[in-house]
Amino acid sequence: MSDGTLARRSLLKSLPLLAAGAAMMGSTSESVAAETPENERAPVTYLPVSAQKQFFSNKEAIKGKAYESFFNPKLEVPTADALALQLGPLDKADCLTPSVADLNRLIDPAYKSPKQGYAVLEGSTAYVQNRMVFPGATAEMLRWWFTWHPIERERYMLWFPQAHIENSVKDPARLANKNLSYEDRIYDNPNYVKELVGPAPMELLIRFTDPAKLGFDAGAFKRAGFTANASGIVGPAQATDVINSMMIHIGRDVDGGMELVSRYWIGAHPELRRFAGAEKAAGMMQKVGFNDQVAEMTAYELAVHDMIEFNHLASILPALYERFGQE
Ligand code: ZN
Repeated sequence: MSDGTLARRSLLKSLPLLAAGAAMMGSTSESVAAETPENERAPVTYLPVSAQKQFFSNKEAIKGKAYESFFNPKLEVPTADALALQLGPLDKADCLTPSVADLNRLIDPAYKSPKQGYAVLEGSTAYVQNRMVFPGATAEMLRWWFTWHPIERERYMLWFPQAHIENSVKDPARLANKNLSYEDRIYDNPNYVKELVGPAPMELLIRFTDPAKLGFDAGAFKRAGFTANASGIVGPAQATDVINSMMIHIGRDVDGGMELVSRYWIGAHPELRRFAGAEKAAGMMQKVGFNDQVAEMTAYELAVHDMIEFNHLASILPALYERFGQE
């Protein structure tokens, strides 16, 4: 019997409710978190071969850029988060759909859910959730990041040195125009991205969108303290008339840093049909063979990608902002 098992047994004895759950289903994300020392971090030890090779071309591309010293291939994530993602898909009861009602549950102060996880929902929809704090960062830094990085593809590479390939916006002059508000710079200014999610490249067109247009109650959003929004509706770059995803990234200032709440839905979920183009998702996804099994693998790979890239961004953002935040 290992020390870990002993520690777990004594922990469970003192927490009868957890013990009952653990006896029925084995580990839960809560029990993994309780067993893992707080703040323990682990290096990312697996990268697809395509990502290993991408790193070398990105390293070459970023040579000579003023921000080259922020290009750091050392990836680390919280140990508890990495272990929790290996427990299989979330229970459906712990997932949100992309409905207006569920978006508003997400910002309800009474809403509770596992910190992160993945699942397959209706319409062969890959679902991912994550909630994390960027230590020493602010929501303003996140807003800056989303107006600064798409100006040059190499800036996007800082975010995930092994997996981010291309990034551009339709109107870079508007995105860079500091005389405009954040909203006027980023909304209705489609963002093309190419990145490796797992071993496979994905090419997406992200339409960053006002939270109220996505379905959030503007008053509740404000009362919850969210001041950064990089959420939007998304479709494949190769079929710009199709919407098959929604992505939520909302940030607020909390004690010690910035809290980022993220959700992703990729598929033909019926609740996405309030967005024009989503009615074409089912046909397209079927044509490319995106069934429940593919959705589940995609959801896990995306959950890992999201965990890595946002922990990595958290590790560089405050210093990057200090150096380039006035640009
Ligand atoms: Zn990414």
